[in-house]
Amino acid sequence: MTACPCGSGDTDANCCLKYISGNEWPKTAEQLMRSRYTAFTLANVDYLNKTQDPETRSDQNPEDLKDWAKSVTWLGLEVLRTSRGKAEDQKGVVEFIARFKDDQGPQQIHEVSQFRRIAGRWMYSTGSHHDE
Ligand SMILES: [Zn+2]
Repeated sequence: MTACPCGSGDTDANCCLKYISGNEWPKTAEQLMRSRYTAFTLANVDYLNKTQDPETRSDQNPEDLKDWAKSVTWLGLEVLRTSRGKAEDQKGVVEFIARFKDDQGPQQIHEVSQFRRIAGRWMYSTGSHHDE
């Protein structure tokens, strides 16, 4: 039993891994966001692509993303705020801080992310970073 990297307090098997394994699709925007963070910790680029809105999918080389995700030490996720993004919604917003450590020391990504439902499934659309 391993605590889920997303910090939900649940085990990974009961939390993000059931989404990443493809057994279930996240029911809320926050669950999707958490599972994407956990996918980063696993350098699971396939899942990151699968859960991104096709309209905003970047041309970034998946191998580069994978190498980067592997090169850092993931320290944790803090969800600051959510708006809509529930089972009955079509859009949602999640504000979070993801912490990691790289060659330069501790880093964080503070982002307000937009999610929308496509064919019934939550997808990550875009995010805007807060620079601190
Ligand atoms: Zn989780």
